[in-house]
Amino acid sequence: MADEKGLNFLEEIVEKDLKSGKYQEIVTRFPPEPNGYLHLGHAKSICLNFGLAKDYNGKTNLRFDDTNPLTEETEYVDNIKNDVKWLGFDWANELYASDYFDQLYEFAVKLINKGLAYVDDSTSEEIAQQKGTPTQPGVDGPYRNRTAEENLRLFEEMKEGKHLDGSKVLRAKIDMKHANMLMRDPVLYRIKHAKHHRTGDKWCIYPLYDFAHGQSDSIEKVTHSICTLEFVPHRELYDWLINKLEIYPSKQYEFARLNMTYTMMSKRKLLQLVNEKYVKGWDDPRMPTISAMRRRGFTPESIRDFCERIGVAKRDNMIDFGVLEFCVRDHLNKVALRRMMVLDPIKVVITNYENGKEELLTSENNPEDEAAGSRNLPFCHELYIERDDFMENPPKKYFRLAPGGMVRLKSAYIIQCDEVIKDEKGEVTELRCTYFPESKSGSDNSGLKVKGVIHWVSAKHAVPAEVRLYDRLFNTEDLGAIEDDFTNHLNPESLKVQQAYAEPELVNATINDRFQFMRIGYFCLDLDSTKDKLVFNRTTTLRDMWSKEQKKG
Ligand code: ATP
Ligand code: MG
Repeated sequence: MADEKGLNFLEEIVEKDLKSGKYQEIVTRFPPEPNGYLHLGHAKSICLNFGLAKDYNGKTNLRFDDTNPLTEETEYVDNIKNDVKWLGFDWANELYASDYFDQLYEFAVKLINKGLAYVDDSTSEEIAQQKGTPTQPGVDGPYRNRTAEENLRLFEEMKEGKHLDGSKVLRAKIDMKHANMLMRDPVLYRIKHAKHHRTGDKWCIYPLYDFAHGQSDSIEKVTHSICTLEFVPHRELYDWLINKLEIYPSKQYEFARLNMTYTMMSKRKLLQLVNEKYVKGWDDPRMPTISAMRRRGFTPESIRDFCERIGVAKRDNMIDFGVLEFCVRDHLNKVALRRMMVLDPIKVVITNYENGKEELLTSENNPEDEAAGSRNLPFCHELYIERDDFMENPPKKYFRLAPGGMVRLKSAYIIQCDEVIKDEKGEVTELRCTYFPESKSGSDNSGLKVKGVIHWVSAKHAVPAEVRLYDRLFNTEDLGAIEDDFTNHLNPESLKVQQAYAEPELVNATINDRFQFMRIGYFCLDLDSTKDKLVFNRTTTLRDMWSKEQKKG
């Protein structure tokens, strides 16, 4: 959704507001509730809020919307900060809605004094009853006409802990027949005797989202308060409260939340996956959380690129998971170090290469980036190649290894398969091959023409490694459309663990390195990796085109 200048609708609004002089500087905020880890949907909101401020020389606050003491934890706060930083953004101020509790209380008192809020003793069922339905107007409850004095006294008693949870609430006094259900005397405060992660036991009444959010925006003088479409009906209440309180007029704007195929984008449900151990934690690489994506090898650049590419829409839509994969491949292709890893080995003995002799070959680290340099690859009498790269009875146009056939070993020599050794079950255990010394990569004057190039490692020098191959966590494309339990849609084959052989250079891998294991995919070292046991995560497979070309035949 971009105009002829390539602006999305929010950028258009901001440009107009700056041009007209409505604002000298724009202020946005990213307002997570610290009740879980951030996911890709939040990344979109982060890129949008921080991106707007960056593009228009404004500023962005990181504000924790921590008004619900029961679900919020400091652990989440720390992780959220870490994730925002990792994505590449700096906030102007780190703020907490809970820091405004005193001020919010004063706002509530102001509404009571104006006759615009009252304490209601009705139960939540009774309140729901009074509200009516979208087609049926609500009715006034029995506590609606309490005097301001009485309301003030009761509200103060609520604050002092004299009333039980659920026995009273503070409601705005608007209109029980309002066309917008949210305007039918919404609840502003409830009693909750619970310890808050920051304010401890100081409070036993807590403001609801609608009373805290817009007021916090206003206190911070947020100019453009950007949220997702489900808040459209809240906008009227947002404006009403600001207007009646006569405070800074922040404005709310809504955009379409990110939905992606095969992906669950709800903190509550992700928490369930963690608690019920369907995954190993919030940062299990199959999760759509930012911490999981980081662990899996996604780069901040690729996530920002993704958010940019999908744009900002005013209508709900569904983004193909492939777009994200495209973005990460696009970036990793530029930065990943090329390495060789054999997942399912078959031994190759080079019969005309002296047993005990070894040599160091060189191979470039990244053909896309000369500055990445090159590395050494030891070559000797015994190698491993991928079981998949050999066929005993190949079809026509098979360009990999077959009895009597030839293939090039990447950055090394051309070999020819002379003999196939099998065990008693008929399984191939070894290929006896000869190599052509004059066919060395870079100085090939063998005159031999081979079409296939395969990866390999030296059997003597290879390092065992565990590789974790991930597939999508869910089998169902549109998880928003399902009616049964979402856990029924989990993909039982989302994780495959394999023991593999790595080229020796990979013992030097660090957590920030990005690798392309040639012909296999993009990988990174996993947090579980130790000096004695290398563990790699597959970030994503290689692009289809590439694998088609390499695996042709
Ligand atoms: P969830 O439903 O996963 O818990 P939330 O909206 O409750 O998400 P918050 O912590 O309240 O999570 O959200 C912080 C900000 O991120 C909000 O402004 C929210 O609108 C935005 N956000 C959350 N999910 C998405 C999404 N899928 N796409 C875009 N923005 C999102
Ligand atoms: Mg929320």
